[in-house]
Amino acid sequence: MVLQGNAQSKIIRMSTPTPATPPAHATKGTTAASEAVKPSNFLRQIIEHDLAAGTYAQRQWGGSPGDAAHHAAGQPDPAKIRTRFPPEPNGYLHIGHAKSICLNFGLARDYGGVCHLRFDDTNPEKEELEYVNTIMNSVRWLGFEWNGSATAPPYQASDYFDFMYRAAEYLIEAGHAYVDEQTVEQIRINRGDFGKPGVNSPFRARTPAQNLARFREMRDGRHEDGAMVLRAKIDMASPNINLRDPAIYRIRRATHHNTGDKWCIYPMYTFAHPIEDALENITHSICTLEFEDQRPFYDWLMERLTEGGLLSAPPPKQYEFARLNLTYVVTSKRKLAQLVYDHKVKGWDDPRMPTIVGLRRRGYTPEAIQLFTERIGVTKSDSWIDYSTLEGCLRETLDVCAPRAMAVLDPVKLVLTNWDAVMGAGTLDDCSAPLHPHHPELGKRSFKIGKEVWIDRTDFEETPPKGFFRLFPGNQVRLKYGHVIECTSCSKDLEGRVTEVHATLVPDTKSGSPGSDAVKVKGVITWVAVADGLTVEVRLYDRLFLEAQPDAGGKDFIEALNPNSLRVVTAFVEPSLASARADQKFQFERHGYFVADGVDHTKVKPVFNLAVGLKDSWGR
Ligand code: ATP
Ligand code: MG
Repeated sequence: MVLQGNAQSKIIRMSTPTPATPPAHATKGTTAASEAVKPSNFLRQIIEHDLAAGTYAQRQWGGSPGDAAHHAAGQPDPAKIRTRFPPEPNGYLHIGHAKSICLNFGLARDYGGVCHLRFDDTNPEKEELEYVNTIMNSVRWLGFEWNGSATAPPYQASDYFDFMYRAAEYLIEAGHAYVDEQTVEQIRINRGDFGKPGVNSPFRARTPAQNLARFREMRDGRHEDGAMVLRAKIDMASPNINLRDPAIYRIRRATHHNTGDKWCIYPMYTFAHPIEDALENITHSICTLEFEDQRPFYDWLMERLTEGGLLSAPPPKQYEFARLNLTYVVTSKRKLAQLVYDHKVKGWDDPRMPTIVGLRRRGYTPEAIQLFTERIGVTKSDSWIDYSTLEGCLRETLDVCAPRAMAVLDPVKLVLTNWDAVMGAGTLDDCSAPLHPHHPELGKRSFKIGKEVWIDRTDFEETPPKGFFRLFPGNQVRLKYGHVIECTSCSKDLEGRVTEVHATLVPDTKSGSPGSDAVKVKGVITWVAVADGLTVEVRLYDRLFLEAQPDAGGKDFIEALNPNSLRVVTAFVEPSLASARADQKFQFERHGYFVADGVDHTKVKPVFNLAVGLKDSWGR
């Protein structure tokens, strides 16, 4: 079982390794990560072994999912391996799913295989079309295409109901399944527990013919919901409780989004899932550790159905890896849904949410998420990854490409009192700066400086604390890309709050002009001219939860919500940002990385979200 609630488990923080070679993301494009040498892991070793041994070399592929006969009539499978990502369409994907997506699609890509996107929609009650669409968009956005082509539709498990029914009848006829009419309670009691073997059901000894008749009555709607179930006939004394005749079909009158009212019996997940894998010719079925105990049943079922000739051999095999647990968030669709429906956040794509749509709106890129999943790797033991590891990956990937801009988030006006005398009344002087300090080829941005500029309130102190090198009366600093100025005084309102800072321009010190560095200063501050600064809304996001493990040990995670996870400010930014497009990322110099909001940002009303600060300010 998952150790998600275990507060004792270790929290792992991984920082940027010192690269011997340029980092994988240093070039653009989502395939960049694949070009770097991948650290091995147990799944890669298994696949490499299977490829070397030719375990799956003889497989045939019928061009679409199907039974043994369908594939036998096809061609040698062009895919060396097949993996799959099988979400249940009952919610939005989160960062944990991203790990599984990057893993499954990444392995297929790296080993000449194909990864399938399959909607696991065997449970009739829960699925919704909204989720199907957002899941497809999220997988595509992460940089992957499924089922071997850019236009292929995803697979749907419910398309396999006919085969599943046939497989169930086969098991009955072969004496491997029976209809049990005990009550749910009796079945539970007779299953035993870890210390106590189970007790055979009185219905276990029925003949295949009796079972078949009963099962067909179930299918034909002749019995009430819950009146009986079909169970695999394995071993009621097995030390693995999952092998004590697990239920494989139940009666459930519910309209299914794909098959409508065709069925009133539905397969159980543990029965359906291995069959879905086999019909799709999956070779390596990778799932999270909580399914480890199900593996013997997976293998049992695959053996029965291949020996019966229904499914092609060799059947898929299941491998388990540790799910991703990330600090300061919750990664359970149910809990994320609660945050949305209780209006604790503004929707599934709220930039504080660890959903893929939320991360995207926060400014995360596919490259950052791929880098993250690669950096954390795959293991077989549960652990917690510190949220700062994810943030570090974003910072790293944005640093190499995000255009720079100046922004003042908590503005106070600075007046250059000698401007008119030195520069001439009403004059605006031109300044410029590189779009990216390491990529001069990207060009420059330009802006004005005038008598009045906005500076950040924290860059001025009337009485400076020790080590403060920015503005205080008598001190000189440089306005970045502009001139050196000397602070003279400030004015304040009745409450003592600074309303204006005063300074004088030091002549002949403009950045880039000859002799401009003759005057040495210790502080450089960012600013935006009152004359050409743009007024924008900035949403300053912080962690959604105050506790590292908000839902550990069954705690009420709602109580751990950070009341200050969003602060909205009106800021001034340099005019180059007038052309910012929704979703475009920038580094606001000295502040951090910001993204033009993917939903609300317009040219008329610009909105920027804080993606991540320049430095890790948490947990140190
Ligand atoms: P949730 O608990 O949030 O509802 P789930 O596992 O029920 O998640 P599915 O839609 O069934 O969600 O998951 C699709 C795939 O994503 C599964 O193969 C599952 O193993 C994988 N997955 C889900 N959560 C994580 C996680 N935290 N880390 C890694 N893989 C995950
Ligand atoms: Mg699930």
